[in-house]
Amino acid sequence: MEYIVKIHRETLKQIIDFSNQNSLLECGGYLIGQKRKNENQTIFIITAAFLDQNQGTQNRYHFFDFTRKSIEEYCQKHLKNSKVIGNFHSHGEYPAIFSREDKIMEEKSPEEFCHLIYSPKYQELNGEVHVIGNKTEKPRITFFGKNIEVNHHISRK
Ligand SMILES: [Zn+2]
Repeated sequence: MEYIVKIHRETLKQIIDFSNQNSLLECGGYLIGQKRKNENQTIFIITAAFLDQNQGTQNRYHFFDFTRKSIEEYCQKHLKNSKVIGNFHSHGEYPAIFSREDKIMEEKSPEEFCHLIYSPKYQELNGEVHVIGNKTEKPRITFFGKNIEVNHHISRK
């Protein structure tokens, strides 16, 4: 199974701008969009982000299940085809590499959930998909939508 993450450039810009607001502290939120599956591909199409206004600390952002659930309910009520398909958090002064704590958080997330990390300092984006149990996969990250200028590169780690 190949995993592909397609992010709307406007949404990527929102995440980057949000991470830069107070770039020393971690922040986070949820990714909203559609998941499409065929025989050999699972594609996450990210069209919006819920930005959590509660910031974390210099090296930690905590995801609360009740936040995810309330956004899921909101999507169900107000959006036709969009769901919560992942989350993101920023890494402040650190590279966008999944830490031990991030791995634990991923394992607790729903199956086939997309995780993104952005580092404001290194302008680096990284992604993983939690598949099942402790299994994660590295997705191919691509972009779509109007070509706006966003400074970032994708982590190879
Ligand atoms: Zn992290």
